[in-house]
Amino acid sequence: MKTLIESPKEIPIIAETEVLVIGGGPSGLTAAIAAARCGAKTMIVERYGCLGGVLTQVGVESFAWYRHPGTIDCEGIGREYELRAQEMGFTRPEPQSISQVIDSEGFKVVADKMITDAGVTPLYHSWVVEVIKEGNTMTGVIVESKSGRGAILAQRIVDCTGDADVAAKAGAPYYQRPKEQLMGVTVMFHCSGVDVKKFQKFVNEELKPTYADWGKNWTIKTTGKEDDMFSPYMEDIFTRAQEEGVIPGDASAIAGTWSSFTDAGEVMQLNMVYAFGYDCTNVWDLTKAEIAGRQQAIWAIDALRHYVPGFENAKLRNFGMTLGTRESRLIDGEVRVQDDYVLQQGRCEDSVGIFPEFIDGSGYLILPTTGNYFQIPYRCLLPKVIDNLLVAGRCISAGVIAHTSMRNMMCCSVTGQAAGTAAAESVKQGVTVRNIDIKALQQTLVKQGARIH
Ligand SMILES: Cc1cc2nc3c(=O)[nH]c(=O)nc-3n(C[C@H](O)[C@H](O)[C@H](O)COP(=O)(O)OP(=O)(O)OC[C@H]3O[C@@H](n4cnc5c(N)ncnc54)[C@H](O)[C@@H]3O)c2cc1C
Repeated sequence: MKTLIESPKEIPIIAETEVLVIGGGPSGLTAAIAAARCGAKTMIVERYGCLGGVLTQVGVESFAWYRHPGTIDCEGIGREYELRAQEMGFTRPEPQSISQVIDSEGFKVVADKMITDAGVTPLYHSWVVEVIKEGNTMTGVIVESKSGRGAILAQRIVDCTGDADVAAKAGAPYYQRPKEQLMGVTVMFHCSGVDVKKFQKFVNEELKPTYADWGKNWTIKTTGKEDDMFSPYMEDIFTRAQEEGVIPGDASAIAGTWSSFTDAGEVMQLNMVYAFGYDCTNVWDLTKAEIAGRQQAIWAIDALRHYVPGFENAKLRNFGMTLGTRESRLIDGEVRVQDDYVLQQGRCEDSVGIFPEFIDGSGYLILPTTGNYFQIPYRCLLPKVIDNLLVAGRCISAGVIAHTSMRNMMCCSVTGQAAGTAAAESVKQGVTVRNIDIKALQQTLVKQGARIH
């Protein structure tokens, strides 16, 4: 590849803070609120114009669809999101669990309000493009925005970019599977113009879908108890649409779930389009995946209109603001959460949160109906080599199956709360994040409403 040298330039220092969180998804939003509630001067930087990450930007509203009567769930700020959204009128019943979905547009306002209440300084429309270090210690980042380039200096930094952008730029070691092996990306879509009652009748009386249906398209291992449970999943009509020429034969990997309905005839979060073989840290792949995903979504709607009662007059209501990435970089942390640890409900001394036994992907579909859970070790948030940097969310240090579980939004909130609290606590203790007093951190987390046992 041809290269050129960009000339050095003087840039303004636009802010200085104690804790700086990069990325405002479920992990970053939670990290920022947690740090500010612990009394640290906190700032959050987000590349788009809203917080929420995949929830608001991709349109994934099923925040806790794993929750069943027997679930021992995490507590803390993640649970507050559901309650605040409900108070503000932004929830609807989730079809396969005892949880509520969080409206992806309404949550933008919930998030604005929650960071304002916590006293966090937000900076939207700003993309972190470079890091500032002294030796191996992080001291700040450089952002690019409509205002140009600027530096933000910080005592502690929490990388919640989903892709570990900050850790990677800082030189922290990370893993990334070859793109052929990565989980698929999805262009999420929502439909309007649906006769919801007719569709529900079809689902309940004819389709009668269960989790066992997932096994038609994917190789799925359950514990057996999931097989007969209801799942809002559809696959056969898309195969039929291809066989009968309604959509092209190469419209592969169309199958999946829907989420909630509205009284206005909308069916939300049609998670039916998977595109494989894309690396979401490569901008050319991102471009191709957006185009391919949108085309697949249009084919999916054609098939739904053709075969599914209630969808005859359905229209595309909207796509997510961006395609959704399930997997990219995973940092190489002080501890890597192993697959067996999650499958066997592991326990650890440095627990900073729990997450129920819930895995959906990488060949597994396990729902937490029996009260099992695992503890999350603090050290999986600590990248090797680089100091004063924590990582939370879907890019923590974990094996493939462990990541599949921990990438879920509630678990990202748990790791976000742990990382934000640790960042604030380490400023208070006057030690690096690596040398923090774990017992004191655990006590603060419990005081702040997190569940660690
Ligand atoms: C299609 C799809 C369906 C899913 N379904 C579910 C589901 O039903 N339930 C569930 O619990 N989970 C689901 N997940 C998983 C879950 O949504 C994500 O794993 C989770 O949101 C990750 O949270 P995060 O905070 O780590 O990252 P994200 O939610 O990705 O947030 C990262 C944030 O960082 C910002 N950012 C990124 N890079 C930069 C940068 N360089 N500078 C500044 N800002 C930056 C982004 O704009 C974004 O706001 C799904 C994921 C996908 C893709």
